[in-house]
Amino acid sequence: MDPFAYGYATDVKEAITEGGAPNTVFLAGGTELLNWLRLGIAKPARVIDLTRLKGLANIARLPHGGLRIGALARLNDIALNEHVARDYPVLSQAILKSASAQLRNLATIGGNLFQKTRCGYFRAEESLPCNKRNPGSGCSALNGINDRHAIFGWSEACVATQPSDPATALAALDAVFVTAHKEGERRIKAVDFHTLPGSTPHIENTLRNGELIVGIELPAAAPHSAYLKLRERESYEYAIVSAAVALDLDADRITRARIALGSVAHRPWRLAEAEHSLVNVSASDNAAIRKIIGASFGDAKPLTHNAYKIMLAKNAAARAIRLAARNLS
Ligand SMILES: Cc1cc2nc3c(=O)[nH]c(=O)nc-3n(C[C@H](O)[C@H](O)[C@H](O)COP(=O)(O)OP(=O)(O)OC[C@H]3O[C@@H](n4cnc5c(N)ncnc54)[C@H](O)[C@@H]3O)c2cc1C
Ligand code: SF4
Repeated sequence: MDPFAYGYATDVKEAITEGGAPNTVFLAGGTELLNWLRLGIAKPARVIDLTRLKGLANIARLPHGGLRIGALARLNDIALNEHVARDYPVLSQAILKSASAQLRNLATIGGNLFQKTRCGYFRAEESLPCNKRNPGSGCSALNGINDRHAIFGWSEACVATQPSDPATALAALDAVFVTAHKEGERRIKAVDFHTLPGSTPHIENTLRNGELIVGIELPAAAPHSAYLKLRERESYEYAIVSAAVALDLDADRITRARIALGSVAHRPWRLAEAEHSLVNVSASDNAAIRKIIGASFGDAKPLTHNAYKIMLAKNAAARAIRLAARNLS
């Protein structure tokens, strides 16, 4: 590990001023950053600790409905918050299926959005061709071990997926990320936050240098929502695929559907076509739901070893719709 300078920010202004300096990174819970430092994925000159920032861990109702979650709120505090658990079960469930209880006690929701792919070539201890880690060096996974990689939106430069469970739930909820930067505040839709790899897979989101996420705003309650995560073991494992669903219902009839898939692309993947086609469909009409979900996979493009993910993702989405309609996890 290379040496680096370490400092605390005591308010947001100081954080964005200090964070804008060259080769500077923020530290929130540290559960992801410390792995990057150990593996040499990040070699910062300066680390700015955010944990002394006041008020950024609060969870509060918004005056006109909805909820604001501070970026420094710990994952377990969010999942177990009564408003989140009751009004946004998809988020609570996604968080409780993330990492381990110990990690969730320390990890923040802001830091979770920045976690990097689990691609083994990217996280390797020795240097392997990887455009995300060393731009221009190639993509070892494209024709290598790619069974856990993307089925949507990948490029020849990178076929990695974004593994965050909460980010998938937030994309389905139409959440908005509120940021602070020396040039002013921004509001970024969760679905627009992560980018596709294109020819620059080392760029993973739309934040500017030194920009800080200060809060996450959730719109009106989504009690009919659910998160389904398929993984190799039921505890403490990243998703093979996941599905986050939020429904508006009139009795059994779907009046609005929002569906985001996780671990299938470089960002949470909304199924816009299916969302449109599900309007006026009965939530108990499994055959119709399966047909609509199946038809929305036209853009899916499997790699050599991951065609199985298409079927899993279709099943996950259809089943998450049923769970959301019943408000079950
Ligand atoms: C073994 C293991 C298993 C895991 N399993 C899962 C899983 O199944 N599902 C899942 O979703 N996650 C999983 N995670 C990821 C875990 O949830 C993240 O490590 C965690 O959420 C990161 O939060 P943090 O606060 O520790 O971030 P940090 O490590 O402190 O920060 C990471 C980076 O995020 C940036 N950052 C942090 N906060 C902000 C902010 N407010 N504004 C701007 N930039 C910011 C900085 O660049 C920082 O360097 C796992 C992690 C580990 C180590
Ligand atoms: S998929 Fe992306 S992260 Fe993995 S080796 Fe290729 S470029 Fe690197």
